[in-house]
Amino acid sequence: MAMDEYSDAEFDFIKSTDKNPSNILPEKLTINSRLQFRCHPGVSCFTACCHNIKIILTPYDILILHKRLGMQAHEFITTYTEPTYLEKTDMPGVQIKLVGEKNGCPFVTPEGCTVYSDRPSACRYYPVGMADFHEGGTNDAAEEKFFFLVKEPHCKGHEEPKHWTIGEWRADQGVDLRDEMNKEWLRLVMRRKSFGLQATLSDAAKRMFFMASTDLGTFRKFVLESSFLDTYEVDPETLASIQDDDVALMLFSFKYLANTLFGAPGLPIKEDKLKNKIAEIRKRQDEAMLKAEQEYEELKAERDRMLREREEKENSAKAE
Ligand code: SF4
Ligand code: SF4
Repeated sequence: MAMDEYSDAEFDFIKSTDKNPSNILPEKLTINSRLQFRCHPGVSCFTACCHNIKIILTPYDILILHKRLGMQAHEFITTYTEPTYLEKTDMPGVQIKLVGEKNGCPFVTPEGCTVYSDRPSACRYYPVGMADFHEGGTNDAAEEKFFFLVKEPHCKGHEEPKHWTIGEWRADQGVDLRDEMNKEWLRLVMRRKSFGLQATLSDAAKRMFFMASTDLGTFRKFVLESSFLDTYEVDPETLASIQDDDVALMLFSFKYLANTLFGAPGLPIKEDKLKNKIAEIRKRQDEAMLKAEQEYEELKAERDRMLREREEKENSAKAE
């Protein structure tokens, strides 16, 4: 199967996969398919894949890494990342900023990854990609997902004598938790991609997406200290959890973004705000209607004037 045939699938595009289709094996794999692969410090290519690579960070990656490094989110973002666009959309995100002569990840050393137990999702998935054909990704049925293997010439892990199923390998890499944490955010990006760029997204909406995706501290302030809670119905349990639980706040931010960017249900606007909004829309409609009526009356008056003028001319011509 060529890469193009996967084009409508929902990819976990954050992976550091090589986009060269010839390196993607033309075989759809399931969770029970067998894989021969092992990566360890003894391989001759050790850390080769930590250089010249694009690693998109998900909100969960950022959360885990900035805590690991004892930094605030914005400090981590400015130090270790650079801006990028996500999956050929206009959605802003960040990728790891490569450094040094060898264009390497800032966390790589000759001994390996210095943040290994908290390494980004992209580093865990490689070399097994996942695609999900379910539009909008509302159903998690396992049979709708499939996997594929990326086999790049420089990666010697495929020659190691270790055999396991895709499921066993994914469990070993701690990918299931990452899938769960990244799922709704990835779906926002894929939804944007499937809408296409004809549908406009305001700069304010993009800024909100970026802020919520990269800096939960600022997003928390936005929720708790702006008029947010006067506008949206947030149940007391959710409100309590997002005050000090970062993961709960992150999952809440995905729900908010889906609602505000794509009108997804799940975050109702308060009744009085809704009434005000409707009244505001009606007022705008009334004003527009009034203006249209005025314009119509003006046009009509102009037309009548021209008709009168013509009639007068015709009458005076007849009289002569
Ligand atoms: S985070 Fe670790 S595993 Fe990932 S590219 Fe950097 S050094 Fe390599
Ligand atoms: S075996 Fe593959 S994944 Fe492991 S270090 Fe080498 S290139 Fe990277």
